[in-house]
Amino acid sequence: MATARFRFHGVLERFLPRERRGRAFAHACARAATLKNAIESVGVPHTEVALALVNGERATLSRIVREGDAVEVYPWPARRAPHEPGRPEFVADAHLGGLARFLRMLGFDTVHHAHISDEEIRRLARRERRIVLTRDRELLKCREIVRGGYVHARKPEAQLREVVARFGLVACARPFTLCLVCNVALRPVAKASILERLPPAVAASREHFVRCARCGRVYWEGSHYARMRAALDRLTDGGT
Ligand SMILES: [Zn+2]
Repeated sequence: MATARFRFHGVLERFLPRERRGRAFAHACARAATLKNAIESVGVPHTEVALALVNGERATLSRIVREGDAVEVYPWPARRAPHEPGRPEFVADAHLGGLARFLRMLGFDTVHHAHISDEEIRRLARRERRIVLTRDRELLKCREIVRGGYVHARKPEAQLREVVARFGLVACARPFTLCLVCNVALRPVAKASILERLPPAVAASREHFVRCARCGRVYWEGSHYARMRAALDRLTDGGT
């Protein structure tokens, strides 16, 4: 057993009971506990930690906590540039259907279905290196989930703003390239082949259409598209 002093900064304080916020507190850690174990035992998932300092020096989360250590723990910045090459892909838990649709709308491959299990989420995180999005902090404590994001907001639009900012998604968004329902790529389709399915006003005013190869849904740049573009532009401007 080692007792160390912990101080959590920024958004990480939200995971703590009120009396532990804004100050350092002593915490007795299990024998041979790593920083990951200790930080998670006070309620903060390891995926939320960007930096830990022990006695003023940077430490990895596998470091063993020793008696008398002073530990400072910092979150990821609220906004950041894309941190790695390629486009991030996500898996969203069963409660985040609205967020999953918004991410698909921006062109980010996001696995989600209403009955997705924790086991499936963990498997997708491990095998496909997907970023796990959830409001279940116990799930994010799993060792096999290397990249994850705890979603603080409750409403889908606010959740999208949070995820776009945290993972630097504005620069690599490709709106309306994925089916919102199936999460598969949309392909151009000739207007003549779908004409009978279009509302007359759309048929009269639009020339370019895309279709989902799986479910057959047809998409075009309508009012929904304009609203989404406007929302994206607000994100780009740094507005909320
Ligand atoms: Zn589809």
